[in-house]
Amino acid sequence: MAKRKTPAEDLNLNNIVSAQFDAAAQHVKVPKGLLAQIKACNNVYQVRFPVKIGKNYEIFTGWRAEHSHHRKPLKGGIRYSSMVDQDEIMALAALMTYKCAIVNVPFGGSKGGIALRPRNYNAEQLENITRRFTHELISKRFIGPGVNVPAPDYGTGEREMAWMADTYDAYNPGGMDNWACVTGKPLTSGGIRGRREATGQGVVFGLRELFRRKDILKSRKISPGLDGKTVSLQGFGNVGYHAANILHQEDGCKVIAVGEYDGTIYNPKGIDIPALQKHKEKTGSIQKFPGTKKLDKGACLEIACDILIPAALENQITQQNMKKIKCKVLAEAANGPTTPAAEKHLLDKNVLIIPDIYLNSGGVTVSYFEWTKNISHMRFGLMGKRIGQAQQEGMINATEKLAGKMLPDSDRAALARSVGERELVLSGLEDTMSEAFREIAEIARRKKIRDLRTAAYICAISKVARSYTELGVFP
Ligand code: GLU
Repeated sequence: MAKRKTPAEDLNLNNIVSAQFDAAAQHVKVPKGLLAQIKACNNVYQVRFPVKIGKNYEIFTGWRAEHSHHRKPLKGGIRYSSMVDQDEIMALAALMTYKCAIVNVPFGGSKGGIALRPRNYNAEQLENITRRFTHELISKRFIGPGVNVPAPDYGTGEREMAWMADTYDAYNPGGMDNWACVTGKPLTSGGIRGRREATGQGVVFGLRELFRRKDILKSRKISPGLDGKTVSLQGFGNVGYHAANILHQEDGCKVIAVGEYDGTIYNPKGIDIPALQKHKEKTGSIQKFPGTKKLDKGACLEIACDILIPAALENQITQQNMKKIKCKVLAEAANGPTTPAAEKHLLDKNVLIIPDIYLNSGGVTVSYFEWTKNISHMRFGLMGKRIGQAQQEGMINATEKLAGKMLPDSDRAALARSVGERELVLSGLEDTMSEAFREIAEIARRKKIRDLRTAAYICAISKVARSYTELGVFP
């Protein structure tokens, strides 16, 4: 008898997000119609536009999806990738709604993208494409400081955000808040300190929170504390690099493998992350980094480690490779890296999954700080810095006088530390990530749910439902 094949897995991210939503919705007491409204994507704008590339014209297709308007403006990144399509953008917009709700960022969810491979175009061509796309978004009111605020995502960065902001400004002369139309801008063009590393830093804050929780770790036979833990990383872009770098430099983790589209590099003794970044800047790739062994590109997911961090794209851990995954904690820095079939398999094997909608929300959290800075037109910490320093000095002097001896220099430096924008951003991000973790863990405990994704969705759905209920529905 012919062997029956396992049916192919549905990799449509929209269907996956929808199934995750439904699994959590069973646990919340919200009227069915309202659940349907929370789940639905409100608007999708698809645009096709020509740009002159060399002597030719190329037609590009872009999208901006607006998932939920329960809070405004709407927020979410712009992705440049050849894999971008409407379903993906709609799913990612939904994830943005849930993400913002979980970390109490008062925005609705949105996402945009253009189907293109950035490597195929030079900077001038990318600028023309970005400016033209921004023009299309302006003409349909899909961008604006109080309407919809893009940010970087896979394939875009500060450079693209500066082009978008400048285009928006050119079309809205004299607009006081124009620079709040996008976040993730360069520091010198209205950006904020700490935004570049925010998503990676948020991943680390989330991991630190988990590794303090003996109650959650014990049943999975994971020892508390990050020191000495082994990490395998997929994706050495902005998110992956910063997460790995902080874990390596501040938390005593050993990053043993890093994978990119052109292969995995492996060193069981640990990879020097800052040196690897320099190597990538110099050579354009992580490959051939001294002291590492080259493995194939999927190997980074299959290496035995304490913490596996997928920080690239969706659908990376699937039915195809789930049986080869050998981590204790799966930290989803990317959006949608794990398919439902793989998730079920890993949960059955007692792997702890920290879900994307919580773990990668550091980016949008600091985007919120940047947007607030832009509309207030003032750098955080500017007004109170000197007063704070004077008060700290006064306290130190009074303490020394009372004690009759001087404080050691290291204590004095720690106490007199000045608090600027960067410190404030980090402090706000840490508090946000810790608080959200505690909320999710508490929901999981109360509802006796073992998987944190369902608990995170319950948290998000309840908050969005509360907003809709308070606001009512416009007739
Ligand atoms: N693209 C990032 C994300 O997926 C950041 C979004 C933002 O800052 O608006 O969360």
